[in-house]
Amino acid sequence: MRALVYRGPGEIALEQIADPTPAADEVLLQIDAAGVCGTDRHIIAGELGVAPGTVPGHEIAGTVLESGPGAKGWKPGERVACSGQVTCGICAACVAGATNLCRRPAVIGMARQGGFAQQIALPASCLLRLPESISSSIGAIASDAIATPMHALWTVGELRAGETVVVIGAGGLGLHAIQLARLAGAACVVAVDPSESARKEALAAGADAVLDPGADPEPVRELRRLARGATLALECVGRAESVEMGIAALSPGGRLVVVGVGNARPRLPPLARFIGTELCVRGSFGSTPTEIARVLDLIERGRLDVSRSVQREVPLEHAASIFAEPGGPARTVILPQTEEPHR
Ligand SMILES: [Zn+2]
Ligand SMILES: [Zn+2]
Repeated sequence: MRALVYRGPGEIALEQIADPTPAADEVLLQIDAAGVCGTDRHIIAGELGVAPGTVPGHEIAGTVLESGPGAKGWKPGERVACSGQVTCGICAACVAGATNLCRRPAVIGMARQGGFAQQIALPASCLLRLPESISSSIGAIASDAIATPMHALWTVGELRAGETVVVIGAGGLGLHAIQLARLAGAACVVAVDPSESARKEALAAGADAVLDPGADPEPVRELRRLARGATLALECVGRAESVEMGIAALSPGGRLVVVGVGNARPRLPPLARFIGTELCVRGSFGSTPTEIARVLDLIERGRLDVSRSVQREVPLEHAASIFAEPGGPARTVILPQTEEPHR
C-alpha cells in the first residue's frame, strides 16, 4: 500500500510499504479519510521523538475489509470512526473508564502505524460505528478535533451553563470548543487568535467576541474586558505565552484547561496568588470512546454544525506538500482512496 512515512525532522515521504495484517483481535480497515492534526505537524517537525519509519495520522475513518478471528462484531463494508489510541483495557485507568489515561497506551500514528495510508489494522475496541449521514472526513476528525475539546471543556473543565469561557487558539480544536461551550450553555465565549481567518471562523462558530493578541498593546487587559470575568479558559496552542494569558484572563476560582501539546514551560503565578484565587490549571488529554460516540450522535442530530470543519480534502499523492505550509484554522483531511484533488 502507499503511505506517508515520517523519515526524520522535517521529512515526510510517500512510499510503498507492506499492507498491514490484522492480529487476532484486530480489524483491517480501508482508510477513507485521515485528518491532519497539529500534533502531526509537531511529529513531522521532529518535536515529539517519534521513530523514523512511522506513518503519522490519528484521526481516522474507514471501511471494514476483514476481521481477525477474535475481533467479533464487525462486518466487511461497515463504516467506522476510530479512537486515537490503542488502550490496554486492563490498567486502573482503563477499568475506571478513563481510557484516554491508559498506563500502557499506543497512540496511533506515533507508537504504532497511523492513518496517512491506504489501510490500517486496529483492535476492534478502537472502532465506533459511523452513521450513514456523516461523511468520512467528518467521521475522521470527530475523534480528535471535536471529541478532544469536548473532553477538555465538559469532562475536565466541568463547564456549567452560564459560565464565561475563553478559548485561546481558534484552530481545529478551538473552533469546535466554541460550539461545544455554547452547546453546554456558556453565557459568553471569547476566542483569541493572531490569524484573521481564524478569528473570522471563530465568529462564524459562535464566539461572542474575538481578540488579536498581537494587535493589542495590552492583550490580557483587553481579554479581561471582553470576557468580563472568565471562569473557564481553554488553551489549544501549546505555548507558554498562551498558557500565561489563559491564567491571567481568569477570575478568582477560575480554571484553565490546557490541551495544546508542546514542551513549553509557562511561568505560573506565585503560590500566594495561586492559593488566594484557588487557581486551577489542568491538562486534558484526548478523549474516550464514550465521548467520540457522543460527538457522532450530536453531529447526526444536527446539534453540532460541522459544515465549516473541513477546509480542504487532498489525495494521499499530494499530501506530503501540505506539511510545508502552515495549517489553516479548519482541518485538512487526507483521502487515501481518492486519486484527484477533491477541493
Ligand atoms: Zn490530534
Ligand atoms: Zn489501560
